[in-house]
Amino acid sequence: MKESVKLIAGNWKMNGLGASLAEVETLAAALAADRPDCRVALCPPATLIERMARLAGAGIEIGGQDCRAETHGAFTGDVSAAMLRDAGATLVVLGHSERRQGHGETDGLVARKAEAARAAGLAPIVCVGETLEQREAGRAVEVVRSQIMGSLPLALADGDFAVAYEPVWAIGTGLTPTLIQIEEVHRAVRAAMIERLGLGIAATPILYGGSVKPDNAAEILAVAEVGGALVGGASLKAADFLGIIRAT
Ligand code: PEP
Repeated sequence: MKESVKLIAGNWKMNGLGASLAEVETLAAALAADRPDCRVALCPPATLIERMARLAGAGIEIGGQDCRAETHGAFTGDVSAAMLRDAGATLVVLGHSERRQGHGETDGLVARKAEAARAAGLAPIVCVGETLEQREAGRAVEVVRSQIMGSLPLALADGDFAVAYEPVWAIGTGLTPTLIQIEEVHRAVRAAMIERLGLGIAATPILYGGSVKPDNAAEILAVAEVGGALVGGASLKAADFLGIIRAT
């Protein structure tokens, strides 16, 4: 992902049934009528990927929320990167804190998943972020740097991916870091990405995620090195998500 326009990606998490696709129809119609100056993506539960991809049209990219590192086999309940691609996804969120914490995902596993995603033709959005305890201990930059070094496989050196900086304590809480804190971590993420993968990733987007809403999106998106947003709760309703998209 080397485009310099911002990427606004919605993560529906485990939310949404067929009826929720009405929101996507509303969103797609609004974007077709007034094309935004940014890329827009939605990452629904796996059950909705195919239907959403059909509805969304060219203006909305579709992503998965996780994939298995293996290509196929006896892994009941899991989904491979090729399956996501086959269903119509072009992106996949990997290493979200809800998977790192709730499913014990390590940096090494996230890196293997990112490699599998690239091999299947998906662009990973690799998530990193510190806990509140780590931030209060003054370790935010150190923690995020270490996650970058461990979670980005060398296969990403072509730049077709994004990183999302998502402080764990800001997700779903209504809390956000200060703009200065966001800039500090984003600059550190960029430096670590270059150290790990070389200058080929200099334009790869670094998204901010954590309680982005229509009323704080413009100031966050204007911060240096913020290349877009990963949006949870506010991506579920077309009106809220559009408010963020229009803030780019
Ligand atoms: C997320 O889960 O990736 C997220 C950023 O959630 P929210 O926007 O609801 O804080």
